Amino acid sequence: MEKTIFDKIIAKKVPSDIIYEDDNYLAFKDINPQAPIHILIIPKKRIPTINDLNDSDRDIIGGMVLIAKDIAKSLSINEDGYRLVFNCNNDGGQTVYHIHLHLLGGRSFSWPPG
Ligand code: AMP
Repeated sequence: MEKTIFDKIIAKKVPSDIIYEDDNYLAFKDINPQAPIHILIIPKKRIPTINDLNDSDRDIIGGMVLIAKDIAKSLSINEDGYRLVFNCNNDGGQTVYHIHLHLLGGRSFSWPPG
């Protein structure tokens, strides 16, 4: 399993704008934001893609969503709304192979996505 830029961010070898951290998770601002608020929530455990999840990873994914919800509330976008996105592999638009949840907010989004 190859290391990615996110391992370096977790290890603080690459700087990031950290929004939240605990023993198992890190959340930081996306370097190329697609919305006024664009935060990535990642587990510290290295899991390359959603395809690599096991039953034992249920709590990891659940924890990511709960952290996203709490951040949305702390940034006061919970009432207006926001979008949570997991990209998987090439067609999903994944570029960093360490699972991450995009929290996007501060504007409205169309559906279906382009
Ligand atoms: P994805 O395309 O779903 O794999 O998303 C990867 C995201 O990581 C992109 O939105 C990038 O802008 C973001 N990203 C890549 N490198 C960094 C970095 N050093 N700091 C913050 N975000 C990054």
